[in-house]
Amino acid sequence: MKIKPIKVGITGGIGSGKSTVAKIFSILGIPIYSSDDRAKRLMIEDSVLKEKIISAFGKESYLESGQLNRTFLAKTVFSDPEKVKQINGFVHPAVKDDFDSWVNAQSSPYVLKEAALIFETGGQNLLDYVINVSAPLRIRVNRVMMRDPDRSEAQINQIIDQQLPDEEKNELSDFVIKNVDNKLLIPQVLKIHEKLVSLAS
Ligand code: ATP
Repeated sequence: MKIKPIKVGITGGIGSGKSTVAKIFSILGIPIYSSDDRAKRLMIEDSVLKEKIISAFGKESYLESGQLNRTFLAKTVFSDPEKVKQINGFVHPAVKDDFDSWVNAQSSPYVLKEAALIFETGGQNLLDYVINVSAPLRIRVNRVMMRDPDRSEAQINQIIDQQLPDEEKNELSDFVIKNVDNKLLIPQVLKIHEKLVSLAS
């Protein structure tokens, strides 16, 4: 019988370096499930999910090409906390099912699920372990402003407001990776990798 991989979440506040750290794990051969990317794909490709979005927010949610109408959604859905809750209520279960079938197709000792929100949504209950990528708020905001020059500080702060503070995520996590200038990432990743491989065997 095929052994199921251990499910490990990798989270961290905006600009903490989740994607950067996930790339290092990926070089070690660990499959990465990007919740954001998969959610965006499912919103276009999953017909049941698409139908729910259209009936709640209207046909304008999609462009004629079938792509998401990001301008419309940003203005009418993502600016309203109640509607954000509603759309998340459609998207999260679809991502959960998609992640489960993706995990079943993997054969590595463990897999990583990268998501900005894990503790905020109770996602840790569906995972075996969680890694938090940690960095001070000021450094994170600076990184994001450098990476996304089109984003305003207000938009960045709006995202931060939806995320648990870094210190709380550190407390709740099984592993913490400190992504600050004076700490090397690769040795921290290798240590956790070895631990997870031994837990899996
Ligand atoms: P988001 O939540 O916005 O998706 P993230 O947590 O995935 O962000 P990354 O995209 O990995 O973060 O990193 C944010 C930016 O900071 C990127 O431009 C990345 O190259 C840069 N960065 C990450 N770690 C470091 C570091 N240790 N030193 C300098 N720059 C870094």
